[in-house]
Amino acid sequence: MAVTQLKPKGNMSEAEWQTRCDLAALYRILARFRMTDFIYTHLSARVPGEEGTFLLNEYGEPFDKVTASSLVKLDFDGNVIGDGEFNQAGFTIHSAVLMARPDVNAVTHVHTRASVAVSAQKRGLLPISQQAMIVLGHVSYHDYEGVALDLDERERLGADLGDKRAMILRNHGLLTAAETIPAAWQLLYWLDCACQIQIDAMAGGSELIKLPMDIADGMMERYKQKTGHGEREWKAVLQMLDGENYAR
Ligand SMILES: [Zn+2]
Repeated sequence: MAVTQLKPKGNMSEAEWQTRCDLAALYRILARFRMTDFIYTHLSARVPGEEGTFLLNEYGEPFDKVTASSLVKLDFDGNVIGDGEFNQAGFTIHSAVLMARPDVNAVTHVHTRASVAVSAQKRGLLPISQQAMIVLGHVSYHDYEGVALDLDERERLGADLGDKRAMILRNHGLLTAAETIPAAWQLLYWLDCACQIQIDAMAGGSELIKLPMDIADGMMERYKQKTGHGEREWKAVLQMLDGENYAR
């Protein structure tokens, strides 16, 4: 937490700078947890107080090198505000969610091995672990259409997400969408854990015990009654990154 936070440059708002620092931290923590797919996949955050702008990584920058300043700011038409290059599929996916869901301010998208494996299984995420029960109520599905370069897919991505906070992109990976960066990280962490457990459990070859869905429903109800999702976890994230100067 003892990160040297330089003040925002030029006329950038304090809120944008804080969001940039948190999003840079999120990129780095994904690198720590080995949840990256080299330079592919992306995490985004809406710029607070602005209409229709968001932050995405500079295409090609390793996740463990992302800084507050290296993030690229763009609008929903794909215009870069300032400079930088972004991944086109990332633009399609993240703008789709942010346009469809005004309540969402942070979006994650990963291609971890276990999540792609589960996304390729017809039955999707199974109710076989505590981790799965925590996230199952949040999960929707979106069918694969190829690398997301076609902007028409934005409508279907938004429609398939509906009012959920997580989506298994079939044959592709995971997406989480939440009000805050800590909440999006928390859901991503649990969802990816649930996928890893499912693949390990199935590889074990023994018959699996399926848990009743009313447990997942109960967890979902408790989630709705709480606020500040992921904040405790986020404090731990920032401690793990102590000494890394991403806030520059
Ligand atoms: Zn992807």
